[in-house]
Amino acid sequence: MASGGKKRQSERERKQKMIAKIISAVIILLLLLSAFISIREENGGAMPTMEQMLDWFGLSDPGAAAPVSASTKIHFIDVGQGDSVLIEQDGLFALIDAGERDAAESLVAYLQSAGVDRLSLLVMTHPHSDHIGSMRQVLENFPVDQIILPDLNKAPIPTSSTFTKLMTAIRDRKIPSVTARVGDVFTLGNGTLTVLSTGIETDNLNNISLTTLYESGGLRYYSSGDAEKEVERDLLASGTDVHADIYKAAHHGSSTSNTDELLDAVHPRIIAISCGKDNSYGHPHREAMETFTASGADIYRTDLNGTIIAYVDEAGMFQVHVSKQEAA
Ligand SMILES: [Zn+2]
Repeated sequence: MASGGKKRQSERERKQKMIAKIISAVIILLLLLSAFISIREENGGAMPTMEQMLDWFGLSDPGAAAPVSASTKIHFIDVGQGDSVLIEQDGLFALIDAGERDAAESLVAYLQSAGVDRLSLLVMTHPHSDHIGSMRQVLENFPVDQIILPDLNKAPIPTSSTFTKLMTAIRDRKIPSVTARVGDVFTLGNGTLTVLSTGIETDNLNNISLTTLYESGGLRYYSSGDAEKEVERDLLASGTDVHADIYKAAHHGSSTSNTDELLDAVHPRIIAISCGKDNSYGHPHREAMETFTASGADIYRTDLNGTIIAYVDEAGMFQVHVSKQEAA
């Protein structure tokens, strides 16, 4: 009898222990789930990293330095009124556009300071001087593996001396160059630069601007040179996936581009506007700024913030560094 009673007691204990284990497991699962959901929300839908999970439970090392390095960075270089964007991926570089002629010295100095020793890709969105002005000086200072050109057959051939001298320099240096086609994919490290649009048949050189999407890891960067509303509408009508984390304001924030529909589709977290301080075009225009503000994205401007660097840190969080404080 005594042994039977003990047996029943130990069975009851086993059952109680089992229930306690199940309850603990459920509590741990619920805690993990709530950590996962709340971090994912903070990340804007991105998966939490192990560091973030440990941090949520107060288990991360408080003495550890915040991670600051990143393998992919988008540099919106302050070239005054113009565009020049450096994409950096694990020590490899692509440059999209190269500002006006008077930006040459500061652009070359910036590229050198950013550690550029050669460019894997050099992209000309379209042949206006505020995008190609310093491209020849870039070729003179850095070896370039490949040049990506817009479809120059879609518009009258530009006759500016900046353009003709640049094309001569490309030929003389025998740099492989390719006319971009929709769907072309160029590799930069573990990322890809995809051509989404090559514009339309036009008299307006802005509208042969190349629209590209750079994608690496958790980062998507959309850029469209000076492409205007007609090109944006065509691209959206094609059903192309334009969603991106980082959006370069088209045409320096002009009201002739940057439609509400495009911003809705891109749905960026970060908008970078490349324009000169007190520029004569009034860029960025009020209508575009209203669209950008309504999108809910963080807005940065080279005329106010200087050079803007956007990247994803090792914890998977989007970060932006600017070279000078926003003007009062
Ligand atoms: Zn421009």
